[in-house]
Amino acid sequence: MLKNGDTEATDFYNYLVENYKTICYNISNACAKYRSPDDKVDIMGVTKTVPADVVNASIDLGVNLLGENRVQEYLSKRELYKPAKVHIIGHLQTNKVKYIVDNVDMIQSVDSVKLATEINRLAQKCNKTMDVLLEVNIGGEESKSGVSVERLNELADFVSQLPSIRLRGLMTIPPIGCSESVFEKMHGIYLDAKSKYGECFDTLSMGMSGDYELAIKHGSTLVRLGTALYGARKYTEEK
Ligand SMILES: *Cc1c(COP(=O)(O)O)cnc(C)c1O
Repeated sequence: MLKNGDTEATDFYNYLVENYKTICYNISNACAKYRSPDDKVDIMGVTKTVPADVVNASIDLGVNLLGENRVQEYLSKRELYKPAKVHIIGHLQTNKVKYIVDNVDMIQSVDSVKLATEINRLAQKCNKTMDVLLEVNIGGEESKSGVSVERLNELADFVSQLPSIRLRGLMTIPPIGCSESVFEKMHGIYLDAKSKYGECFDTLSMGMSGDYELAIKHGSTLVRLGTALYGARKYTEEK
């Protein structure tokens, strides 16, 4: 895919360019409408099931942050990627931390004391301070991972004390089709925590292909985009 002189590849590349332009346009419109002039919203390319050469084409366009759901898939593709920052955004099992601790820039999906403790232990071992977000299950959905709103403070207090972890903010996946008030509630929770944990606490990772403009309206600093950038995923996703 994406070889010179290959028309199909050229078409796909143009499709990617158009998607990226649309995303940038929508984000700058939403920012102009709802945010202060010096606010910044980062774009993450969510790479699950996307071939490495397509990911690289998006990096060429200016996507400099990638989101990885599955450790195994990431490990099989990372050697092929051009330079970009990488965040883990999928549910992370404690026994997989060792495979990624030294080659990702942030773990967005921390939702338990056990996982945070293991990240801290292994980060310490490789002389690193790991940036993390706490994943909040804002809709209280049983099918989703993330810490409940009720237990967030307790977890945040614990994580903020760990010497080899830097607590950078919160991540969430609002329920599909939920009302705007859920985004508003999440923003409020983020601002409360921000006032408590200080300068470094600067990231609200909220918004995906279907809701990123709404998320920006409610304070998101990082939107995670798969479908809107790369198109519909071809394979069925395992949970
Ligand atoms: C898949 C995924 C996304 C991107 O979803 P799209 O709707 O395709 O943009 C964002 N965040 C997480 C955690 C995901 O698993």
